[in-house]
Amino acid sequence: MNTNDLSSFNNYESEVRSYVRGFPTVFHKAKGYKLWDMDGKEYVDFFSGAGALNYGHNDEKMKQKVIEYIQEDGVIHSLDMASKAKAEFLEAFHDIILKPRSLDYKIMFPGPTGTNTVEAALKLARKVTGRTNVVSFTNGFHGMTIGALSVTGNAFKRKGAGIPLNHTVSMPYDKYLGANDLGLEYFERFLEDGGSGLDKPAAVILETVQGEGGLNAARMEWIKEVDRICKAHDILLIIDDVQAGVGRTGTFFSFEPAGIKPDIICLSKSIGGNGSPLALTLIKPEYDKFAPGEHNGTFRGNNLAFVAATQSFQYWKDDALEKNVQTKAERIHAFLEKMISEYPELKGSHRGRGFMQGVFCNVEGLADKITDKCFEHGLIMETAGPNDEVFKLFPPITIDDEGLETGLKLLEQSIKDTVS
Ligand code: PMP
Repeated sequence: MNTNDLSSFNNYESEVRSYVRGFPTVFHKAKGYKLWDMDGKEYVDFFSGAGALNYGHNDEKMKQKVIEYIQEDGVIHSLDMASKAKAEFLEAFHDIILKPRSLDYKIMFPGPTGTNTVEAALKLARKVTGRTNVVSFTNGFHGMTIGALSVTGNAFKRKGAGIPLNHTVSMPYDKYLGANDLGLEYFERFLEDGGSGLDKPAAVILETVQGEGGLNAARMEWIKEVDRICKAHDILLIIDDVQAGVGRTGTFFSFEPAGIKPDIICLSKSIGGNGSPLALTLIKPEYDKFAPGEHNGTFRGNNLAFVAATQSFQYWKDDALEKNVQTKAERIHAFLEKMISEYPELKGSHRGRGFMQGVFCNVEGLADKITDKCFEHGLIMETAGPNDEVFKLFPPITIDDEGLETGLKLLEQSIKDTVS
C-alpha cells in the first residue's frame, strides 16, 4: 500500500469488513506530537490515542529499550508466568509510582485493555461484598463488555448489548458530580433508606474527569465526600483512571489532589508507555480475594509493554513532567476561555482539567464541524459527550511549548473558519 486510498478499509462491499475513525487519510509515521500520512502531510496530534499515548509517539528511550529487548530474543509472550521484564516492571511501578505516594496495593494483570480492568474490578467488588448493584454516573464510560457496559452511562452504547443491563444503579451526573447542591446528601439518604427495599450496592465506580462523557470534572471536595460515604456504608470505591490516570490531569493518579486511597484503581491506556496494550487493577490488600486462576486470560502481561512501561516510569522520578502538565494546562485553560469569549457563536463553556480540557458547544453538530476543520488544517482532535458536543484537547503530556502553540493556533484558525 502506498497511497492514502481508504477503499480497502471502508468498502463494505469488499471482503474486508472494517471501518475507520473519521479521519479520511492513511497514517504512516509518528513521532512525539506529530503524525504523517502516506502523502507526507504532517499533523499535530491532540488526540493521543484517546489517552493511550500520554508520552507521545515513539518516545526515543522507550523505543531503544524495546529494540534491545527484541534483539536479545527477550520473551514476548509469557502468559502469567514470571519473566524478567515483568519483574522489572513491578519493581519500578512499586518503587517509583506507588511507594512515594504511600499507596499500598496488590497489582493484578486483568487482561490487556481498560475494559478488562473494569470487568475485574466489578467482579472483585461483588465477590468481596457478596452484593450485586454498582453505583455509576450518567455520562460515565467504563468499557464495552457486558459488565463494564452495564456501568457505562451512555444510552447509545448500552443499546449495543442487545439486552437490558439492569444490575446497576445509575446516578444522574449533574446532581452528583460537583454541582453545588445536595447531590451527595441525597445519595447518602438513599443508602440509609431501609424502607426502599433496594439492595445496598457493592461499589461506586467513577472517573474523576469523564473522558468520553464530555470532560466533566469532579470537584475534589465531591470526590472526598464520595469516599467518606463509601467508607461509612462499607461500599467499595472504584476509581476508573484508565483515561484520566498516568499523568493526564497533572498527577500520576487523577485522584491524588483529593488525598483519597480508593479501594480499587483501574489503569490501562498509557500505563503501557508507548501505546502497547497493558492494564492493571490495583487492589487494597484486604480485598485481594480472587483465588489463583479465578480471573485469568491469555494476554495478561505483554513483555514488550512491560519494557516500554518500565522505561516510562523514569518520567516520574522527578516532578518535571507534572510541572509541564500543570503549567501548560493553565495555558490551555486561558486559551479556551479566550476562544469562548471571542467566538460567541460557539455558545461555549469550558470543561475539564489538566490535559483533559475542551469546550462544550451548545450548538448541534458544531464541535464535530470544528474537529473536521482541524483535520483539514493538520490537527487531530476528537469530540466527547453524549452527543459529541465537546471538542476535546488531548495533547501528549510531554508536549513542548512549540507543539502546544502550533496546535492551539491550528485550533483557533479552525474555529474561526467554522463559525464565520
Ligand atoms: N474506562 C475509561 C475511563 C475509558 O476511557 C475507557 C476507554 N475509552 C475504558 C474504560 C475502556 O478501555 P478499553 O477501550 O481499552 O477497553
